[in-house]
Amino acid sequence: MGSLAADVSSLVRADLLAWSLGACVGLLVLLALEHWRVVRSRQHLAKRLQAANSQLEDLRGRDVLTGLMTRADFERSLDEAVLACNRDGASLAVLYVGLDNFRSLNEAYGHTVGDAVLAQAADRLRTALGVQLALARLGGDEYVLLLAATDDEAADAAEQLLRELHRPYGVDALSLRLGASVGIAIYPDHGARPRLLGCAAVAMRSVKQLGGGGHAFYDPALAVDERDKAELLQALRRAVEQGQLQLVYQPKVDAQSLQITAAEALLRWEHPQRGTIGPAVFVPLAERHGLMGPIGHWVINEACRQAAQWRGLGLRMRVAVNISGHQMRQDDLVQHIAAALQRHGIPAGRLTCEITESVAMEDTAHTRATFERLRQLGVHVSIDDFGTGHSSLASLRRLPAAELKIDRAFVTDLGQSERARSIGKALVDVARTLDLRVVAEGVETTEQRDVLVALGCDELQGYLFARPMTATALALWAERDEPHDGAPSDFRASLFDPTATMPLD
Ligand code: C2E
Ligand code: MG
Ligand code: MG
Repeated sequence: MGSLAADVSSLVRADLLAWSLGACVGLLVLLALEHWRVVRSRQHLAKRLQAANSQLEDLRGRDVLTGLMTRADFERSLDEAVLACNRDGASLAVLYVGLDNFRSLNEAYGHTVGDAVLAQAADRLRTALGVQLALARLGGDEYVLLLAATDDEAADAAEQLLRELHRPYGVDALSLRLGASVGIAIYPDHGARPRLLGCAAVAMRSVKQLGGGGHAFYDPALAVDERDKAELLQALRRAVEQGQLQLVYQPKVDAQSLQITAAEALLRWEHPQRGTIGPAVFVPLAERHGLMGPIGHWVINEACRQAAQWRGLGLRMRVAVNISGHQMRQDDLVQHIAAALQRHGIPAGRLTCEITESVAMEDTAHTRATFERLRQLGVHVSIDDFGTGHSSLASLRRLPAAELKIDRAFVTDLGQSERARSIGKALVDVARTLDLRVVAEGVETTEQRDVLVALGCDELQGYLFARPMTATALALWAERDEPHDGAPSDFRASLFDPTATMPLD
């Protein structure tokens, strides 16, 4: 019995041993399998990482929209090209290309159309010359090319690019046209490597300021202007915040009776150091840098406030404000005008909005809708600087405007030149055909006045009658009954009377 027990016990031990061994082997196999799985998945992960990395590598330095280089890679190419240039004494040209009025196109047709135009422009730049060392999109509507070229060759290349970029862009059923501006900086003539891109950009902006659609080389004088402008812009921001802007007022008079029909509000900036700065200097700057919104709102409100104050004194002429391109593009313009009129208790028929012909023609569909809403509100719309834009009779006919203001350029020569008189007559005829009132601006001499009266102008405005003056000066002058800068003395009565030609509220 004892040996049986011993046998059984040794058998059990042997089984246990075998089972343990088996379990160990199984465990080892499992561990090996797990290790193999981990290794495999690591290898897989590494492969995927590698693929992603190379994709990233491809994408890095590429602009997603156009597939062109971005600034960082362009700068690297420029570094290499400059080194090569220093070795063999050749010259390099950086061509900075900006599309003209792209922002308006983007706003009018939307970003999808805008993006398609940017991509097409990139394709044209890629193929137009075929010999560039590098080509990048720097963001927005700006591109830059690097060429191994002398200044003559660079100028030819710029003109070729301009021709290509000027061709219509087809997006869906649309055929869109855009101009472009090209600024050129030559290495080594225009400065050291770090300044090249900046110099080309300055040159490009100088072309834009002259209306775009051309090329210009960098000129050191331009950089001073740019610095000056940057300082002026800073000061303008402060001026808006600190209330250094003012309105002065210039009367429009009835051509027959010489009674005042309206006072046009004109912006002035009282700069603490530079003195008075005119709108021709700072309005375009404000437009470009997003300041025209707050300035335009202030003008509308201030002119309405002033109109209310004058009405309190018994002065009953209408008030005119100038509306900028930026304001015209804002959807809330009409709402804003309505609110200002209501705030100061001014009837809408007492306000005229002057919009320059070129702005009115920028986006005729949008302009027409805004003009229509202004008309419904009861505000008069005047087309300013008429004759300087490119409006067709057909597009003018569709605009619900009340008045055309013949630009000063056409008035200046009226006294001496027969040709100027013919043009003046044609402009008055256009207004008559469209059933619009005609105002001539910039009238300085009695000869000009006589011709304009004979041509049939309804209203006149200019230094002959009155220069722009402060609101207080206008009221004081009216009270004292003193002629202001040669203005006829029967102004005074007219200030307190309703004008015959424009019905008052
Ligand atoms: P505009 O609306 O056509 O105004 C007429 C400009 O000619 C004014 O210049 C006025 O002072 C000047 N002027 C008037 N009569 C005569 C004259 O007999 N001879 C000469 N040589 N000039 C005369 P200003 O005030 O410098 O304004 C220039 C332009 O700036 C204005 O042209 C208008 O387009 C713009 N502007 C003025 N104020 C504003 C404003 O509040 N908002 C906007 N968006 N633009 C404004
Ligand atoms: Mg005006
Ligand atoms: Mg004008």
